[in-house]
Amino acid sequence: MPYGKVSPWRNEAAFEQQSNSGIAAVRWAPRVAPWKVRRLYENDAQGLVDEELIDDVAYSLYARCQSILAVYAAEQGLVACPLCGAEIPRRQRDEQELLRCPLGHWQTTWGLYRKSYRHKQLWAGRAVTAFMEFVQGLPKARTPREKMLLIDRLIHACHQSLTGAAARYKRPVACNLIQGKMKELIALLDGLAYGPCTPPEILRTRAAWREEVAPYLFHSTADHNNEGI
Ligand SMILES: [Zn+2]
Repeated sequence: MPYGKVSPWRNEAAFEQQSNSGIAAVRWAPRVAPWKVRRLYENDAQGLVDEELIDDVAYSLYARCQSILAVYAAEQGLVACPLCGAEIPRRQRDEQELLRCPLGHWQTTWGLYRKSYRHKQLWAGRAVTAFMEFVQGLPKARTPREKMLLIDRLIHACHQSLTGAAARYKRPVACNLIQGKMKELIALLDGLAYGPCTPPEILRTRAAWREEVAPYLFHSTADHNNEGI
């Protein structure tokens, strides 16, 4: 039984204890504090380069994107062992299904694993490409400016609805990445500082956000959470 179809003669008490201790090893990266993002743009507008803050935000977002992509993979049927990263295929959507690291480090049930990320804004939804591009791009970024451009592109991305004649933006990915409710995060993005030192790429993102995205968000400012995840 390679990936733990539940055995009928298992020791229930021992099984539950092991599964519960397994879930304690699962950690999801937190969202970034909004003041840090605001400060990044204030610095940028004045031509100040605070490498430490840029790295702090960039790698916090990186960890958060990795958590979002891990949830995405789990929903698609592939859980990663939280201790070694080994892939654990999930066979079905049975809450009792045992997920067990093939190297024997860790185990828990699908039900407990799934519960660990519910209501944590970790749903990749229709913005999975934005998270993937950031995770692929950041390790290649050499300068603070390259990192800043990646951060800027990521936090202005949106979940899109594909229904209807035209694409409609449902929800900024900032909801997945930065602490706060959707209304507060739209206000944060609207109010970021720009100045004479702001790079042209960042000014272009601002223009696209203001002209092409923000107007289509206002019809739905409820702080809903897609699929309850
Ligand atoms: Zn492992």
